[in-house]
Amino acid sequence: MKVFKFGGASIKDASSIKNILKIISSHNNEKLVIVVSAMGKTTNALEIVVYNYLNNKTELQSSISDVFNFHSKIMNSLFKKNDPVFFEINKLFEKLNSFMKSNKSPSYSFVYDQIVSIGELIASNIIHHFLLNNNINCSLIDARNCIKTDSKYRGGKVQWETTNKKVKEFISDSNINITQGFIGSDKNNFTVTLGREGSDYSAAIFAYVLNAESLSIWKDVSGLLNADPKFFSNTKLLNQISYSETIELAFYGASIIHPKTLQPLQKKEIPLHVKSFKNPQSKGTIISKGVDIEPLVPCYIFKENLILLKLSSLDFSFMVEDNISSIFKELHDLKMKVDLIQNSAISFSVCFFDKYNNINDLVKNLEGKFKIDMHKNVSLFTIRHFNEKSIKKVSNKRNLVLEQRTEKTIRLIFSN
Ligand code: ASP
Repeated sequence: MKVFKFGGASIKDASSIKNILKIISSHNNEKLVIVVSAMGKTTNALEIVVYNYLNNKTELQSSISDVFNFHSKIMNSLFKKNDPVFFEINKLFEKLNSFMKSNKSPSYSFVYDQIVSIGELIASNIIHHFLLNNNINCSLIDARNCIKTDSKYRGGKVQWETTNKKVKEFISDSNINITQGFIGSDKNNFTVTLGREGSDYSAAIFAYVLNAESLSIWKDVSGLLNADPKFFSNTKLLNQISYSETIELAFYGASIIHPKTLQPLQKKEIPLHVKSFKNPQSKGTIISKGVDIEPLVPCYIFKENLILLKLSSLDFSFMVEDNISSIFKELHDLKMKVDLIQNSAISFSVCFFDKYNNINDLVKNLEGKFKIDMHKNVSLFTIRHFNEKSIKKVSNKRNLVLEQRTEKTIRLIFSN
């Protein structure tokens, strides 16, 4: 059994769905579980529907029509006019409308999950029908019957014991099962989502429970790269990397695979293939246990628009437990996302992202207690497996304000 996951970009239009048919046809004799997320940017569009439903009823119908028309266009080019798929998709929209009419819950998160989940349901239905029409024998499984969670809407916690039973009960013996990522259900059978980008995690859950031979996540890049091509030229494909090294890179901010997705996989040592749906023959990246990163090249992670605060005590007291814990309490209360800390006897530096623009409150709360030196708009480069050449490459004419080195990692903060 293998698990494949196709995300938004790999199913964004009719031609990408035809491409999926090609990929699946070449695995037609294998047992597959295919996990799909919503098509293209549907989840964002559905978030607008949720907003309009709760706050702006005049725009509600047009935002629903946007979602409907986007999928209709794709279906019109994949199916004949009288194909049963149209009936199925209309049914999903009818259900959405009747939920909106009958719902009495004021909970944003509850409403969000009941509405946004339709994206995955539509996508899996369309793909199921398209594969059937092209002679791929496959079954459509509702992931909400399989993945059971608590009732923490928008971030359901998986209940492993029940999920284990249900997945085995519902995944049929036919060769190919298609199901949704991102969604599960609670004990009252209300839909619960697993958090944005949660369908990789869903795929890992299926792989774990079914003891899959491997999980392949099909993406619009060739695999994991040693840097983000948006910021770096000459990026290199990583052929192989360990689970723990991938988690390290994610911790520093590489937007690759979420550690949550890796947890179930590494427990059973199920290899994760990150592959390109544009170039399915190429090997991509294999993430597995204990392997050395290959090729061994510096990996770069870049973050910008951060704030660096250098704090020192006013009375020459050491920056230790009591001072540092009071600083962290402020950072935590103001939802600052800390990227790096460094301290010496009487100074403490912290670099963070001020997502909610709370910097003035932070400074006000710290002012009486510490001397503050603030650098706004700094950039942070993390280089894993650094060498002198890689340091030079990022330092180029920039003004270094802080450096932190460990055996494998260097972190450099530059002011602008
Ligand atoms: N469709 C959901 C999202 O856009 C889940 C996913 O794609 O992983 O976040």
